[in-house]
Amino acid sequence: MTSSMSEGPQVLQSKSPGDEPNDHSVGIPQEVAPGVFFLKGGTRYFEEGTKTGPAGAVRSLMCNNGWIDLGDEVLLIDSNMPSRTDALLSAVRDTVGEKPIKYVVNTHHHGDHVYGNRRIRERTGAAIIACREMVDELRRFETAAFGGPPGRWEQVATLRPDLADTSLLPPTLVYGDRLELIGRDRRVELLHHGWGHTRGDTIVWLPAERVMFAGDLVANGPYNIVRDGEMREWPKFLAFMEELRPSIVCPGHGERAGPEILTSQRGFFLSLWAQVESRVRDGITLDTLLGDIEMIRAALLADPAAAEHVIPHDADLAVMSLNAQVERVFRQIVQE
Ligand SMILES: [Zn+2]
Repeated sequence: MTSSMSEGPQVLQSKSPGDEPNDHSVGIPQEVAPGVFFLKGGTRYFEEGTKTGPAGAVRSLMCNNGWIDLGDEVLLIDSNMPSRTDALLSAVRDTVGEKPIKYVVNTHHHGDHVYGNRRIRERTGAAIIACREMVDELRRFETAAFGGPPGRWEQVATLRPDLADTSLLPPTLVYGDRLELIGRDRRVELLHHGWGHTRGDTIVWLPAERVMFAGDLVANGPYNIVRDGEMREWPKFLAFMEELRPSIVCPGHGERAGPEILTSQRGFFLSLWAQVESRVRDGITLDTLLGDIEMIRAALLADPAAAEHVIPHDADLAVMSLNAQVERVFRQIVQE
């Protein structure tokens, strides 16, 4: 449970794994355009998860948030984890006053983006919006919320006390590929463009301000969890996002960026695919392929178009590892 159990150098030794969710100083809202705000969440899970395993760091898992003052009401991007609800709602109030939060957009189905849904709806009455495929993903992985056996929520709940007195609330308002929200002051487009980070990704796009909230289609840093991703299609979604020509891109994890992050993220996935594909021969086993992992890592790190997204070291083989990323690509190539 603590970093002392792991091999290799320790990081953030002054904190226990549970500290960060309650650290309200993590992230000060940035007004990225008039009435448009970005709040960066901590990235400790991603940085330490590779050393202690996600089980040790999962209490610090959280996502970035954004919100948009539409004029008379507010749209919030992702509900984060329940431990973040109070800090999030007070950050919204501090920036836009008492305007009602009328909409919450779930950029995709992952827990760090949706597990706060119920608590936020209880406090605000907001509609929870996502695309149709996101709800299908919830049905696939969050089985208990739909009357089935325990799913991901129940797994995470064994490690996160903040899930104890709430439960998953699925979206209450579902759209297809495109939904436009027209406020008095601002217009927002929600766009879904196929299977990328998950089958149900939404980007939040402000065409006038040229600001994009990318969800986890974009991670600014070596923070890509690909276990639900489609590694051939993800770069195409990123190309679609580049064509919109944003000037500011707010990722799901890591610092806000400019449009270059879309290019480097796409470059990383293309290089990763190429590295795996060049090694895949008839009958190659995953073990044989993973025997090359340090060569693959070195090649990716040497590619300036990809380097910033490459996990520098893996102490275990959890979801946050180059091994997991290589395995995902391998399975998608050999299952063709
Ligand atoms: Zn995600």
